[in-house]
Amino acid sequence: MKKPKILILGAGYGGMMTATRLSKELSYNEAEITLVNKHNYHYQTTWLHEPAAGTLHHDRTRILIDDVLDTNKIKFIKDTVAKINKDDKTVTLANNGELSYDYLVIGLGSEPETFGIPGVKEHAFAIRSVNSVRQIREHIEYMFANYNNEEVKSEDYLTFIVAGAGFTGIEFVGELTERVPELCEEFDIDRSKVRIINVEASPTALPGFDSELVEYAVDLLESRGVEFKTNTPIKECTPDGVILADGTEIKSKTVIWTTGVRGNSLIEESGFEAMRGRVKVDPDLRAPGHDNVFIIGDCALIINEEINRPYPPTAQIAIQQAYTCTHNLKALITGSELKAFKPEIKGTVASLGGDEAVGVVGKKKLYGTSASAMKKVIDNRYLYLLGGIPLVLKKGKLKLF
Ligand code: FAD
Repeated sequence: MKKPKILILGAGYGGMMTATRLSKELSYNEAEITLVNKHNYHYQTTWLHEPAAGTLHHDRTRILIDDVLDTNKIKFIKDTVAKINKDDKTVTLANNGELSYDYLVIGLGSEPETFGIPGVKEHAFAIRSVNSVRQIREHIEYMFANYNNEEVKSEDYLTFIVAGAGFTGIEFVGELTERVPELCEEFDIDRSKVRIINVEASPTALPGFDSELVEYAVDLLESRGVEFKTNTPIKECTPDGVILADGTEIKSKTVIWTTGVRGNSLIEESGFEAMRGRVKVDPDLRAPGHDNVFIIGDCALIINEEINRPYPPTAQIAIQQAYTCTHNLKALITGSELKAFKPEIKGTVASLGGDEAVGVVGKKKLYGTSASAMKKVIDNRYLYLLGGIPLVLKKGKLKLF
């Protein structure tokens, strides 16, 4: 009998974990599995704020796909997905023509949400990939170098605006507060010349997070020199900085945009019905009306029934969905029962740079070094799930305190 073809798009948390699980759950003769990804490496998106600020080398965040994937069972193609032709059951790649499938798993991640604010795409940086954070780190260093070499010293070079004080914004600001003193020393610049401004439209930083933890995070970051501007929507991003809704301009040569994400644009371009690029998937993670297409991770939208609002897209959910997706693919192939996806939110921890973090794990609130150690345990746990102890030893964060 012909083996069914499973095609996985994207080697992020969702796609990579689905590929890894499938290679364990299915035997050689049960399916022909192919994984397509833009790069020959998998990167840990949840660590990207660190190389962006320059506190961690970007190579620590990436893992060669061939190093962890069972390539005897799964074929890996390094290419960019250009189009998903769901009616023809094919996918068009940028360089390798078309691939056909019987079952498709879409795990193509997200793109920055600009809310249509003018100038963001053109003038702001986004923390979204290894390449983007390499550019941010280099740009920040270049700003320090520029400041010293200009005849008229413009402090715009040393003003860093982070738009959005959600999870990513706060984590990046935390790392930047760790890096700036090093850069000041390296470039002989007084720390008081450098401004880090975190602009947020909501009334508070870390909207939706426990208020005590928010207070801890804000107090700590302010003590390291961060200026918070909450209740402050941005109406435009320009080559010279940002213009706030009230017309005030903040001048800066560096704007990092972290106001949330939307699903990969290929989702809408391929004709899936979506909200901000995310498909409201059926309980078994299939796209409505497409029984052979699973959508997981940041491209999928699932509703938290308790509050009737979508779950925020997280790696935690993407990884859990990979397990359900694997089960359901196997069920379709072997003719057994599919199961519904139920997220099990174990907690959330936001790092604040150095050995500081805040978070909730189970019902327990964590602050400071214990939260930071927990964050590293979470990071290491993922590596363990993906590649066992060897991967933890190679790429893990082994110094917990
Ligand atoms: P991703 O992990 O983003 O992977 C998508 C993959 O698809 C990538 O490998 C990409 O290269 C590939 N790809 C994209 N387009 C194409 C294409 N056209 N062709 C081929 N390949 C393509 N979540 C948490 O749970 N906890 C945290 O602490 C946390 N911290 C975060 C910190 C930061 C700085 C950021 C940016 C995010 C954080 N998140 C966190 C969110 C989390 O990273 C995402 O929810 C998660 O990465 C989504 O996983 P995914 O598999 O959907 O996509």
